Amino acid sequence: MSSVRDYIRTIPDFPHEGIMFRDVTTLFADARGFRMAVDQLVQPFSGVRFDKVVGLEARGFILGGAVAHQLSAGFVPVRKKGKLPGAVISESYTLEYGTAEVELHDDAISAGERILLVDDLLATGGTAEAGIKLIERLGGEVIGCAFVIDLPDLGGRKRLEDLGMNVQALCA
Ligand code: 5GP
Repeated sequence: MSSVRDYIRTIPDFPHEGIMFRDVTTLFADARGFRMAVDQLVQPFSGVRFDKVVGLEARGFILGGAVAHQLSAGFVPVRKKGKLPGAVISESYTLEYGTAEVELHDDAISAGERILLVDDLLATGGTAEAGIKLIERLGGEVIGCAFVIDLPDLGGRKRLEDLGMNVQALCA
């Protein structure tokens, strides 16, 4: 297998009928695939200094931890509502049906810190935008957003680029 895409499988009708779910557990499980993904996520930012990597729950934790290690940066989780133990700030965002809320510890990022946002997949961009808002509310500067998969038809890349973000993805 020569590209990151080769390690990702698509599971039909998960979590609902009609959804084609991109399953990255097969990428994470393969030593060569996982190494390739982490190397390629950091590659566009070669020579760029980051203070922290922010990973979006849950697969963004797996990738973000490895990316943070590679960049010698700290790691900060953005979690779903009610999971973080300390004082938090929150952002709500719209889903296809209803809303969701994500949280960040209110002392996790200091003003002026340079941040790389990491997640496995960019779809509508709602989750990433909520993460960006949380980071920016604490004064962090989002230098880049890195994803393994971009589903461009769902508009996430444009949404983030319209916010002025540098968006990088390994495959569509
Ligand atoms: P968005 O907020 O951009 O619409 O959705 C992206 C979020 O949903 C990411 O946190 C991502 O992990 C999750 N997600 C949505 N669809 C898929 C999928 O097909 N595969 C994976 N692995 N994650 C998905």
